[in-house]
Amino acid sequence: MAHPVGLGLGSNVGDRLANLRKARELLRGLSPDGTVFYQAPLYQSEPVDCAPDAPDFFNTVIEIEFVGDPYDLLRGTQGIEYHLGRETVREPNSPRIIDIDILYFDQKIVNGDILTVPHPQITHRRFVLQPLYDIRPHFVLPGDIVPIEEHLKRLDSAEPDLALVQSDW
Ligand code: AMP
Repeated sequence: MAHPVGLGLGSNVGDRLANLRKARELLRGLSPDGTVFYQAPLYQSEPVDCAPDAPDFFNTVIEIEFVGDPYDLLRGTQGIEYHLGRETVREPNSPRIIDIDILYFDQKIVNGDILTVPHPQITHRRFVLQPLYDIRPHFVLPGDIVPIEEHLKRLDSAEPDLALVQSDW
């Protein structure tokens, strides 16, 4: 059975658009052929909890269909991160060619040592909530009671507004 899974993508090193496009193609390769795929617009955001001189991020969210369990997906997303040149050992929150977060995995809840799903930061970060809202405004995360649109309305965050880079990418 194929599960709808939401993935948050970010890049703040090198050609950010090219990095995200490559990640998108590789992530689509994790899905069975012909399955549904959604992608949000691309936004630019100032880094949160990073060094003061850290470059801005390009962020987006995609939803793919995935056959397997959440840990299979994590292996797939981490394989893509390393394939695209992410260092195995690096400072926390240092600039990254590509960051792929598993935001949700269908209606599953995972609280493991190496994996927490839904991703605990979804409802606190504009750079995740805004693109997620763009593709899934009415989605209610497993274990939650309000939809994404409500979280975005209620978001009380010091983050500056996101800049739309391009709707189609
Ligand atoms: P980061 O450096 O922020 O990309 O964090 C990467 C680490 O977070 C990985 O080693 C994962 O094991 C762990 N992790 C926990 N939950 C998640 C999730 N929902 N999506 C991606 N990585 C996760």
